[in-house]
Amino acid sequence: MKKINYSDLESKFGLPNVVVHCKKCLMTNQKPFSINETTNMKGSKKSGMPINKDGVCAACEYSLKKNQNIDWSKREEKLLKMLDKVRRKDGRYDCIISGSGGKDSGTQAHLLKYKYGMNPLTVTYSPLLYTEVGWRNVRNWSYVGGFDHYLFTPNGKISSILSKEALINLYHPMQPFKFGIKAFAAKMALKFDIPLVIYGEPYAEYGSQDGVQTDSPSYDLEWYINDNKDIFLGGMHVNQLKEKYKLNDVDLLPYMPLRSHDVNKSNLKVEFLGWYVKWDPQDIYYYASENCGLESDMQRTDSTHGRYAGVDDKFEWPHYYAHYIKYGIGRCRFDTSQEIRNGHITREEALLLAKKFEGEIPYTYLNDCLDFWGIDEEKFWEITDKFRSPHLWQKENNSWYRIQELPELI
Ligand SMILES: [Zn+2]
Repeated sequence: MKKINYSDLESKFGLPNVVVHCKKCLMTNQKPFSINETTNMKGSKKSGMPINKDGVCAACEYSLKKNQNIDWSKREEKLLKMLDKVRRKDGRYDCIISGSGGKDSGTQAHLLKYKYGMNPLTVTYSPLLYTEVGWRNVRNWSYVGGFDHYLFTPNGKISSILSKEALINLYHPMQPFKFGIKAFAAKMALKFDIPLVIYGEPYAEYGSQDGVQTDSPSYDLEWYINDNKDIFLGGMHVNQLKEKYKLNDVDLLPYMPLRSHDVNKSNLKVEFLGWYVKWDPQDIYYYASENCGLESDMQRTDSTHGRYAGVDDKFEWPHYYAHYIKYGIGRCRFDTSQEIRNGHITREEALLLAKKFEGEIPYTYLNDCLDFWGIDEEKFWEITDKFRSPHLWQKENNSWYRIQELPELI
């Protein structure tokens, strides 16, 4: 094979041309940080997770700190103090937990209500397409876990349009849902005058957030506030979208970000429970399963070995596949990297799993997703190929292969 100078190859999304692999997990410097999606337009550039001079990624650095340097009993004392300030005894809700009733939101709600004596309202911004197990889990959250629960389902015709545009323009088919989950809980809190929104794992756990922000339990306001007039949905300016599909403002209401003045005039706090309490995905899975009736999927999830993470929306499958195509990081790498950090598997075991499953085509629900977008499979592959960055993919004899990949995975 001819020698390639990687720094000369185009990187489509502004990520580093030369891929650096973390020495401890299977992540790379191509893992993009989370952004405020309402600013995401076609051709937007991303910044990736840093890998330090010792070859360790930001998520592994955070995890070392989490496992060694944090005094969790002190953190819990801080949690109790914070909760004492907002707890209500007058029959009103005092906190909101937003989620699908999966391992994270199930555990958060249960701990807050039954261990810390809070009065949570649980809310769900509906997945684009519920899986059967996802639907059972969200019902069990309320029925088995014992919580009041709101399920908000945005207009399916509009979410289909937005998901299709997000696929074509950004190869980010879950983007309409991401808008929802990022702002929905805060919107509901403001509506019901509830002072606290609690999320689970800090984003730094996955290297989706800058390490600077890991010293605070607060959710970064930037992710749900956008004061600009120019809002982008599905990679298009809202005015363009409204014109193309003859939409009104109210059609796009569920996707609109919060404005600073709405939040500033309230005392709303948005925090991560995983900053105060040690959050291990396996432990909390068992906790939610025991206390909220959480079920894992009957079948293995395409492109990974797992069955219990992100199984409530059929669009999770193409969502992770899109990460594989755009950034070279598939679902198995996400799962195994987290398991390495939590001490459940070794890097060698992770490599064997990734060799087997990484990049597997997400056929289980692909037809459902194609129907939702109104396109055929040929069109899907045509769109997919446009998003393969030349610094990660090369084509030979009509088939694509990875470059800058770990030798163990080729
Ligand atoms: Zn790492």
